[in-house]
Amino acid sequence: MGANGRYAMNCTDDRRFLANKTDDPLHEAFDSKIAIHAMPRGESIRPEALPGLWADVMAAADGLPIRSIYIHIPFCEDHCLFCGFYKNAYRSDLAEQYVEALVQEMELTAGAPFLNARPFQAVYFGGGTPTALPAKSLARLVSTVHRLFPLSNDCEITVEGRIYNCDKEKIEAALRAGTNRFSMGVQTFDTRIRKSLGRRAPREKVIESLTYLRDLGSAVAIIDLIYGLPDQSPEIWEEDIKTFFGLRLDGCDLYQLNVFKGGLLEKAVSKGSLPAPATLKEQADYYVQGVALMEAAHYHRLSVTHWARFSRERNLYNLFSRGRSDCVPLGSGAGGWLGNYFFFVEGSLKKYLNAIKARRKPLAFGLKRSQRDFLFRDISYQMELGYCDLNELAERHKMNLLTILGPIIAQWEKVGLVNLTDGCLYLTRPGEFWAVNLAQMLIDRLQEDSLSGSHRGRWS
Ligand code: SF4
Repeated sequence: MGANGRYAMNCTDDRRFLANKTDDPLHEAFDSKIAIHAMPRGESIRPEALPGLWADVMAAADGLPIRSIYIHIPFCEDHCLFCGFYKNAYRSDLAEQYVEALVQEMELTAGAPFLNARPFQAVYFGGGTPTALPAKSLARLVSTVHRLFPLSNDCEITVEGRIYNCDKEKIEAALRAGTNRFSMGVQTFDTRIRKSLGRRAPREKVIESLTYLRDLGSAVAIIDLIYGLPDQSPEIWEEDIKTFFGLRLDGCDLYQLNVFKGGLLEKAVSKGSLPAPATLKEQADYYVQGVALMEAAHYHRLSVTHWARFSRERNLYNLFSRGRSDCVPLGSGAGGWLGNYFFFVEGSLKKYLNAIKARRKPLAFGLKRSQRDFLFRDISYQMELGYCDLNELAERHKMNLLTILGPIIAQWEKVGLVNLTDGCLYLTRPGEFWAVNLAQMLIDRLQEDSLSGSHRGRWS
């Protein structure tokens, strides 16, 4: 214990994990966000070793009790200005070839002892835009998953989509094939802002489609909203959230705008064709405004960004992916942690299609779990929920976390980002806004300690 507080700094390196000294932690605790999601750093694997490692994982009839399947659809009908996930322009002939290859990839994968060891609790069709596919293809992919993989009775099967070109036929085909959750990217209901960002459907169409989806009652319907967009004001943000309330959908993500370096949005702003988006300080205000509105309307909080109206919405795939679970990646551009490795499926469509033709799993790169990866995943998962129970994790992982993290946490507490009660760290409202920084710093500090050799006596 230090003379000036509960903990003394372990070494000068701790300084890079400290918050700025400020009385205004919401706006000033850090100068920037350091990650989109908090992640431990893995060790990269030589590409030639990937097929053997994949085969070893698939041959073992074991794995973690929580498991999901992620299926990537790498096509979009537009490149929305704010998005960093755009890969390929949608073309019906290419999409047809792709769906054929994806079904083959699923067939090549299915039957492996690993896959049949226990049921999957979540399947996520992400992208890109899965709803860009024709109704028949979408239904074929969902029913192929049902046919080939063991799914738990309560398996969450999500299809991600957008309103444009997602007609009733597609929704109904996906439902008949076994989809039970739709996650629709709305971003904002404001027609003018939507258009300026490359979203084609106007507010009225968005509302009509979501009302239809809700009234069907057959699947959970959730949407994404983004704060900090160019031309958005606190009034427009409030109107977006209130429109969501009025629609009585099952859930909503409130995301912070992320301006990708060299991306279309950054270029549009620098050319002057769009006004600058909100600053980080303004985003912090949007965040607080959004949380206050959600709380006042009695929505349940499932993570620092995700809200549910009833327990019907569970957000399983997203929560699993932060924590300790296996995820089988399928499709060009998919990635997932499986066994001791992260596998990323070939992002180049051409290479992907060629590999499938040669009946090979198209793996582009991989990572090996770092030492103590499960501890880091536990931290990332809990921080996503707004806390980190250091006592529980210390017992589970047989180490004294507070010896290493205590000085940093004491400083964060002083600044007003966290409260430490009985060995459990709870995020304050400003701490929630900076949750990714705090989680990444906890992980980095522990990872640094485990690698530096200064851990003798703290890690067992
Ligand atoms: S927001 Fe969706 S539709 Fe738009 S570019 Fe990104 S992935 Fe594609």
